[in-house]
Amino acid sequence: MSEYIPPEVDASAFHCPHCEVYANQSWSNIDVYASSIGRQQILNGRIGKCAHCQDYTLWVGEEMVYPEGSPAPLPTEDMPDEVEEDFNEARKVVNKSPRAAAALLRLAMEKLARELTGEDNRTLHNMIGDLVEEGRIDERVQQALDSVRVVGNEFVHPGEMDERDNRETALRLFDLVNTIVELTIAREKLIQEEFSNIPEDQMRGIENRDGNS
Ligand SMILES: [Zn+2]
Repeated sequence: MSEYIPPEVDASAFHCPHCEVYANQSWSNIDVYASSIGRQQILNGRIGKCAHCQDYTLWVGEEMVYPEGSPAPLPTEDMPDEVEEDFNEARKVVNKSPRAAAALLRLAMEKLARELTGEDNRTLHNMIGDLVEEGRIDERVQQALDSVRVVGNEFVHPGEMDERDNRETALRLFDLVNTIVELTIAREKLIQEEFSNIPEDQMRGIENRDGNS
């Protein structure tokens, strides 16, 4: 699991939106030239250059205007379709409204927890508690979910807007949805595949051993 570092203006390094490699970035102001005004600097304009692919990102203030894209990570493989729909919707809106993105991501998280627990009537908060109790997710994940108010005393209901949600909270929620899919669905699938690769006679040996212990 490698951590995704989203593009940010003036950051020394991030995952480049062009080559998708984590690479150093160099920064300068943007100057424009027009015959009527001469050479002039665009206020708040910054240009970043990727050390890996040599391609550029253009920024006005905190917002990346080129390439048009999302600072959020892509959904991880094995994410259930229904969850992925909200996740991708959140990726589209996170630049303009981190609060809307966070609301969508808590909704995505609720759908994911419902899928994992097979429960329909429990709250997201309780379902996450179940997953920790069953050892399917780590307590550290629960603590991280507490810090973005998915669980804990300041729990925010899925789909609800919360004044305190900012870009940073939204970006952490993207990572947490991906992490939970990787810890549960992806890992459980991998273990299943490993087991199905064990030759039959060897499998019988394992069963006998477990039967005798
Ligand atoms: Zn690059």
